[in-house]
Amino acid sequence: MPEETYHGIPRSKIQWGPTIDYEKCINCGKCVDYCTLGVYEFEEKDGKKRSVVKNPTNCVVFCTGCDGICPASAIKHPSKIETREIMRKLKKAQIKE
Ligand code: SF4
Ligand code: SF4
Repeated sequence: MPEETYHGIPRSKIQWGPTIDYEKCINCGKCVDYCTLGVYEFEEKDGKKRSVVKNPTNCVVFCTGCDGICPASAIKHPSKIETREIMRKLKKAQIKE
């Protein structure tokens, strides 16, 4: 079950999740097998299967585990520093509410 909040912030507001660079992706499916949280799925389009980021908010905030298993270095996550800064602002806005 994915987290609904992270440090009191709704998970849906935290833009943390992987992205796939399809210029590099070789559709090996390792990311789909590796992450057990259902972040990735195989999608069929025009008779071809490709890995897609189906549920980005299932990704554990600050996990980058799958970056290193991609043989094509096609997976990236946002900057941790920028994400921390965004979270800090969200938290501040919550306190003011
Ligand atoms: S592991 Fe990398 S190359 Fe393989 S399907 Fe996922 S993104 Fe594409
Ligand atoms: S970073 Fe971790 S939780 Fe997020 S998709 Fe990759 S393995 Fe799954």
